[in-house]
Amino acid sequence: MISINEDCINCDMCVPECPVEAIDMGEAHYQINQSLCVECEGFYPEPSCYAVCPVDAVDIRK
Ligand code: SF4
Ligand code: SF4
Repeated sequence: MISINEDCINCDMCVPECPVEAIDMGEAHYQINQSLCVECEGFYPEPSCYAVCPVDAVDIRK
């Protein structure tokens, strides 16, 4: 499961990187719609939101 934590500074960098438009603004910071996120399988070798985040606000939990 990929999720965005409270360290998110709302920089917007991950939003255009998501191939399935699963990232949108939540109450305080960006969040990932779990019903849309495919963990980038079939698109990229690793979750692209994780790869681009400058502040390590994207968590990957197996
Ligand atoms: S892991 Fe990939 S599909 Fe899931 S939210 Fe991040 S960029 Fe989008
Ligand atoms: S790239 Fe990281 S800090 Fe920027 S909006 Fe996405 S999760 Fe938040």
